[in-house]
Amino acid sequence: MFKATSRNPQAGPSSRPGSGLGSNPEVKINRRLSGSGPSSRYPYRLNFYERPPTMDITLEEFEIFAISRLKVLTQIHALLDRSLPPQQYRELLSSTVKQHAALSSNTARNVRLDEERRRDEVGHWVLRLAFCRSPDLREKFIKTESELFRWRFETDDAVEKQEWLKSLRFDWVTVDQAEKSLLLKNLASCLPKNANESQVMGDHYVKVPWYTVPDLVSTRRVYITGGNAYVPQAYQISLVLQAFRERLGKALEMTAKSLPRMDEDDRLMPILSHLSLSFLTNISANDNNFFGEQDPNSEKVTADMVDALAVKHFPACQYNLWRRLKRDRHLKHYGRLQFGLFLKALGLPLDEALVYWRRGYGQTMSDDKFNKEYKYNIRHSYGQEGKRTNYPAKSCQQILTGAQPGAQDSHGCPYRHFAPEQLQQLLVEAYPVIQVGSLELREVMDSVKKTHYHVACTRVFELTHPGNVKKGEGIGGGNMVNHPNEYYNKSLEYEKESKGMAEPMQTD
Ligand code: SF4
Repeated sequence: MFKATSRNPQAGPSSRPGSGLGSNPEVKINRRLSGSGPSSRYPYRLNFYERPPTMDITLEEFEIFAISRLKVLTQIHALLDRSLPPQQYRELLSSTVKQHAALSSNTARNVRLDEERRRDEVGHWVLRLAFCRSPDLREKFIKTESELFRWRFETDDAVEKQEWLKSLRFDWVTVDQAEKSLLLKNLASCLPKNANESQVMGDHYVKVPWYTVPDLVSTRRVYITGGNAYVPQAYQISLVLQAFRERLGKALEMTAKSLPRMDEDDRLMPILSHLSLSFLTNISANDNNFFGEQDPNSEKVTADMVDALAVKHFPACQYNLWRRLKRDRHLKHYGRLQFGLFLKALGLPLDEALVYWRRGYGQTMSDDKFNKEYKYNIRHSYGQEGKRTNYPAKSCQQILTGAQPGAQDSHGCPYRHFAPEQLQQLLVEAYPVIQVGSLELREVMDSVKKTHYHVACTRVFELTHPGNVKKGEGIGGGNMVNHPNEYYNKSLEYEKESKGMAEPMQTD
């Protein structure tokens, strides 16, 4: 499908870290022109993705389109887990899809339909490559892609949807009026209580082998006779979804078999591995790199301010490191690294960091030892020693999948690395609004049990910022926590907002 080439008239050398790209960042296929209307390649908004893309794309597009789609899929996965009211679920899904994977109907104006559909197609196919590699990834991909497909199907233009369905040539048999009147009572008995027989005659029914619609059969929503299920129009989405899942499942298995042939491509494999790691941790790649002092948005923080900020704004991982340093007057290497970079990124400058860490170690360490063994490392993390690299703070994905903490360590993500009792103790201590035995704590622990660690962390954020975000809104706009510094920044922002609102209005 994607073939490397040396021809690259447009793209310059890629500077994306970790992509493993050389000076030849292009994947060669054949680019086609995209105008404002649909082309013959993309006549419909809906797509079963049965033909691999054959246009040119750069490696940068390869990665960007996939990350956009991954954001939608990870959000879907998190939303499905959160048991939100249907209306709120639809609103949050709709806003994520619009933001990262918008796809317009043919009737839409002022939209580059082909470009939207090209992004959509490429994103889907790249993620197929990334997620075909294990049964777990395949299952998750099919589940979230099906949900995205369902949302698009339900929001599609009715006429366009029918045309698309016709183009698929499903072997459904349309039930004619004579057969419907023969089975009238039976068909009506499967409809909701307030429906009547005239609705049956006016509806469009198809019959299919009953085993192709197990969800409709198990909920008794279709009439079955002679091995066929009679499916009214409203439920035909089940048929389409079933076909979508089946075809995608088979395609993923086939892709998995051919994937070893791509192993030698050292440009694509790092991207694919990174994407699948993101999907496994349910966290989409983060656009934000938190560097600290060079970040123009970060405000200066002093060593004296850290304790007060920790109590109000730190996520569980950093709160734990803060309290361990206070309690033990010591942190092991990875703990120092995780906490030090977090503090740097929230705006603690180097001179204040030296003051903070010196105080943190207290009497357990002489000035001499601190200067010789620790000062260098702190200066190093600020890019003042060695290669002078300004290291960014660690994201949730890095913390969740990085070096696993041992018994004496305190780094990592408490939602993932703590025993349940230990985690509950930490949460109750760090966030007084969460009480032992409360419904809220159970809800958080349920997400942890399902290994949805960042969903648990996001729920804690919602619970601790009740005046700013409601359940389901995450850190704002339905976004999940995927970086400790994002958690901190949002928390601080909401505090400022609340204070601003609390200030008395000036009147003349
Ligand atoms: S989910 Fe992220 S921010 Fe929350 S505790 Fe874990 S690593 Fe920290």
